[in-house]
Amino acid sequence: MDKKTLEKSGVFVYLYVMKVCLKGMKNFPVEGGEELVKSFSEFLQSQSPLTNDITIEFLDTRQGDMTTGVRYPGNKIQVLSAGRLPIDVLRTLSHEWIHEFQTQKLGVDDSKPIQDIGGPEENMCNVLSGIFIKQFEQTHPEFDDILYGGN
Ligand SMILES: [Zn+2]
Repeated sequence: MDKKTLEKSGVFVYLYVMKVCLKGMKNFPVEGGEELVKSFSEFLQSQSPLTNDITIEFLDTRQGDMTTGVRYPGNKIQVLSAGRLPIDVLRTLSHEWIHEFQTQKLGVDDSKPIQDIGGPEENMCNVLSGIFIKQFEQTHPEFDDILYGGN
């Protein structure tokens, strides 16, 4: 690229400035899940970058009317973890992460919960979370055993 073109198009520097707070790691289905969740969070941030810090809490029982995961205003995600395979926990996490991305970056209203089965927001989460989990599996063979519950 010549200097003139470069000047016109600019140089993009991507800075990852947000942080993720993990809670309830004791409820994660396998021991030593921190490295896996950390790596998966970095992967999600590279695919659907968030600006605001988020809290991710792993639960041993369902709370309220959640299914396997829920996202609350205030950048908080809860994921049901006990009795599930790590790969399923991460799929739920990526689903809720994309909801977070929708509110932080795509202008989806933070104040009302999305429970619209078949609606555009929900479909986007379902499609992307399936793609993300497959991409992560392919690019992170070091987690093969742990993703399926082995240690
Ligand atoms: Zn959803």
